[in-house]
Amino acid sequence: MEWSPRVKPIKIRRLYRFARLGIYDDMLLHDVGWELYARCADIATVADVYREGRVPCPQCSTKIARQIDPLFSKVEGGTRENWFRCLHCGERLLWRDCRQALRDTPRCFTCRSVLKQNDDLQCACGKTWAQVAYNQSVRTRVRLPCPHCHNLVRRPDKPPKTQTAKHQQSKPELQCPKCQETALHVSGNIQCTVCDYKRRWRDYRKSLKKKDEKLTCTDCGYSFRWQAWRKSTQTLRTGNPRPAREFIQKWLRCYTPQQRMIQIDTLLQTLHGRGPLAPLFIDSGEHNIRQMLDDLAS
Ligand SMILES: [Zn+2]
Ligand SMILES: [Zn+2]
Ligand SMILES: [Zn+2]
Ligand SMILES: [Zn+2]
Repeated sequence: MEWSPRVKPIKIRRLYRFARLGIYDDMLLHDVGWELYARCADIATVADVYREGRVPCPQCSTKIARQIDPLFSKVEGGTRENWFRCLHCGERLLWRDCRQALRDTPRCFTCRSVLKQNDDLQCACGKTWAQVAYNQSVRTRVRLPCPHCHNLVRRPDKPPKTQTAKHQQSKPELQCPKCQETALHVSGNIQCTVCDYKRRWRDYRKSLKKKDEKLTCTDCGYSFRWQAWRKSTQTLRTGNPRPAREFIQKWLRCYTPQQRMIQIDTLLQTLHGRGPLAPLFIDSGEHNIRQMLDDLAS
């Protein structure tokens, strides 16, 4: 997989040096902006892989389904988040995304229409909320509209430690590693229904995780390994892809050098507040980047 490079700090410093003098060097703004954009796009692509469980083929970008469903795999998920599915539209969701969608676009909890924002939040159905009360509700409600289909979804319970095992148990295709016949997950063991294979469930799960997963593109036939792919995304993985996704949207709506400078600055300010996120975008160590962002902010 060819990923775009991180942005060089020297370019960012130069950009700010000019901006301080009131000069918007549009060549440089394009240069830095599009480099950040490419990086953001890669970060979003990698985040989508963990969201959807499908990996883009390094040759043709066709999305290939993984064998291990990351929805139920704590370690493979990279961010150890509590995914669940909308019962109505089947989308994979995170509860905090459901909340965030309502902060971006407030909707009525009753009829799910988009609310009008005056001093209060008003719905065509007659309901109103004070902004503070609405925010409070978004934080505390256990049923919120799905960000995709807007039907109500229930907040998932915190996953118990045995959820992975339970899910596997209900899966019919549990296979004996020795003879490939059906195996069962019984009282802490995996046990074959045909041969004498029997192993502790915990050890079996561990060995699965170590096993390298081979992926073959359904479109171009190219084969690659999940572990190698995952390794190539080391500096692109984050549990917080939101700043990257926002930049992608906003950058495309910049028409003047000033607007471009504002979007670049907004992203860098966001990174400033989130130490570990910045090295995903900027080509330097966390300490040096912090130093630079401190300088730019002062
Ligand atoms: Zn839905
Ligand atoms: Zn309503
Ligand atoms: Zn067997
Ligand atoms: Zn392919």
